[in-house]
Amino acid sequence: MRRLAEMHGGSVTVESEVGKGSRFTIALAYRAAPDEGAIGGEEPYADLAKGEPALAARPLRGRILLAEDNETNSDVLCDYLDARGYIVVVARDGHEALALVEDFQPQLILMDIQMPYMNGLEAIRHLRAQPPYADIPIIALTALAMPGDEERCLAAGATLYLTKPVSLKGLVETIQHLLEQSC
Ligand code: MN
Repeated sequence: MRRLAEMHGGSVTVESEVGKGSRFTIALAYRAAPDEGAIGGEEPYADLAKGEPALAARPLRGRILLAEDNETNSDVLCDYLDARGYIVVVARDGHEALALVEDFQPQLILMDIQMPYMNGLEAIRHLRAQPPYADIPIIALTALAMPGDEERCLAAGATLYLTKPVSLKGLVETIQHLLEQSC
């Protein structure tokens, strides 16, 4: 998490108390979202190339855990969400996602389904089996949409299912809607 924050020009401080867990303070520097050409061949975000004006103000809008094994995809999405006021922490597989959920206490999770070691479906099932995470909004994202994927994701406990390419603007609207519903 620290490495990620520093990559974004910010910092992470941790205060731990025995028996009470850890408090993470994450400071992120403002950076405008990339407007075009920032991603490679896969183009997972449909509207990235259209560009959007940089946002001047950046009120904090929520903590999001992004579980995504593709670094290019996660960098793009992370920058986009960061510029819109979300605090984003990235996990590279399901195991990392489960560990970070405990440490970071996200308010919403974006879960890529195809990941190594533990895929998104397994990670969602593990989370839903734990009472503190039974109701946290989880958006499942999948690149290779197959028949039955949506049903599998929803059956595993995903709140919503989206296929890549994802509209970044639409994704932010969906995230904001879910965050407002859940608080
Ligand atoms: Mn993946």
